[in-house]
Amino acid sequence: MDARTILAKKRDRLELSIDEIDFLIRSYVAGDVPDYQMAAFLMAVYLNGMTPAETFALTSRMIASGRRAHFDNLGRPAVDKHSTGGVGDKISLILAPLAAVCGAAVPMMSGRSLEHSGGTLDKLEAIPGYRTDLSLEEFQRQVAEIGVAITGQTAEMVPADKKLYALRDATATVASIPLVTGSILSKKTAEGIEALVLDVKVGSGAFFKSAESARGLARSLLTVADKLGLSAVALLTDMSQPLGRAVGNWVEVEESIDVLRGRGPADVVELTLELTARMLTLTGLVSDVVSARRQAAKCLHDGSAWQKFLEMVRAQGGETSVLEDPRRYPEPRHRLEVKAPRSGFVRWVDALGVGVAALELGAGRKQIGDAVDPLAGVRLLKVAGEAVQAGEPVAVLQTSQKKDSLTVAERMVSTAYAFGDHPPDPRKLILGEMRPGN
Ligand code: URA
Repeated sequence: MDARTILAKKRDRLELSIDEIDFLIRSYVAGDVPDYQMAAFLMAVYLNGMTPAETFALTSRMIASGRRAHFDNLGRPAVDKHSTGGVGDKISLILAPLAAVCGAAVPMMSGRSLEHSGGTLDKLEAIPGYRTDLSLEEFQRQVAEIGVAITGQTAEMVPADKKLYALRDATATVASIPLVTGSILSKKTAEGIEALVLDVKVGSGAFFKSAESARGLARSLLTVADKLGLSAVALLTDMSQPLGRAVGNWVEVEESIDVLRGRGPADVVELTLELTARMLTLTGLVSDVVSARRQAAKCLHDGSAWQKFLEMVRAQGGETSVLEDPRRYPEPRHRLEVKAPRSGFVRWVDALGVGVAALELGAGRKQIGDAVDPLAGVRLLKVAGEAVQAGEPVAVLQTSQKKDSLTVAERMVSTAYAFGDHPPDPRKLILGEMRPGN
């Protein structure tokens, strides 16, 4: 078997066998297939897709590339949530400790930023000292001891996703149903969970922008999850506008702290509670979504989720003094205000425009190995529904490393805003729910 023949088959739209997919993934992880051949394969998959059998084989081979965690005797169910990628989506930082204090074990393996969308690992790494490279033993021990860990793929756990993820980001091949399915479900299966809540984003800031394409992704994720023995549910949620008022890395940590301390934007609180409630019902910890939401809201407001977050950060080597007093965190070197061109109401803030601006400012990567600026990002001072005066600042752009990007980012964020004479209808956050077989 050789990689070139496999690439030619995929290029010519022929179905690959399990053995061919196995060979390709194993050889890539071993370093025998170079990035340039794998990049060509990814583009062929992006353009030609994969059959359900190929998608399942890809996911299984990615899982088999590393070791798997086990949480059989914890006395509480291991459950997780994963989003398909969005702008301002800091939900995992809040939800993981929250679900843990509600009685679940949350062994979460997350990803970095992809194209214009943020990544939980990059956000957490904005906290000085926070480690996202836990060994399997450290990961298992921490979840057993405190009920929650958020870490990343390593050479030991899902190395195939670690390498492919970075390569997809740099080759414009993220928005592919089989590749997203393999990436998410390989991580989730390796975590050793029994249940999974999928947050499938819809709208400009999502990788699958139309409701129809997002439903296609949800269907693929649910079908493969079912075959892997994972109990799963998918919520289709709005990503046409950013979540919350902060887009970037440290700025999103700060906003997560606000929510964990019982404040923060209503949309972030709402989505966190809805997703956490599904985690609690899917595992049978709570019998219905309304009671589960109530329990989650209580733990968010009584400070127990905030304490659990601090415990998790401490356990992973992070410095908690900057979390307890964010004013101790360094300031960005450069800032620029974006001003309203007219008086009226903000009708819309386009998620993709803001996400790409944050990427330009240095919050994400354009090439493998690019350094991420923890201070880069966009603060939205005004969001949809709020009144503005002409000349009033609606957003602040910030960066420490890319001063020259401020001008282009300003143009992007200005274009992302739409103004009108009346406030828009309230935003609908949850657009649907899907289960296997839907
Ligand atoms: N999240 C992942 O882990 N992988 C993807 O491909 C997209 C979102």
